[in-house]
Amino acid sequence: MSPSALLDTLRARGVRVWPDGDALEIRAPAGTLTPEIVSALRERKPALLALLRSEVAWRVLAMRRQATASGSLPLLLARSVSPASGQCASCGEPSAEFRCSLCTEAARQVIAELRHGGLQ
Ligand SMILES: [Zn+2]
Repeated sequence: MSPSALLDTLRARGVRVWPDGDALEIRAPAGTLTPEIVSALRERKPALLALLRSEVAWRVLAMRRQATASGSLPLLLARSVSPASGQCASCGEPSAEFRCSLCTEAARQVIAELRHGGLQ
């Protein structure tokens, strides 16, 4: 299973996954992490982490641009979208949450940069 296929499988099951440094953070509804998925996660962790980091990276760039332009703490949306139900309000990708785990992680990083004055 390729990293992106694995990610699709996880998302289809409502599993939230995001990178936190060298760790892979996972929030999964009970019963969704089958032994097959757990072993795929173990096998593919480095590739999955790389994929998730790149997913967070473009969101950070988009959010950083907004933060720089507004000079204040903006909504931090990765894209201009009108989310339908079942979509992340920030990037428009399928998500059971208001904001997907990757946008949440990207916003966390940009807010940390703002707090440290890194965007002036
Ligand atoms: Zn999102």
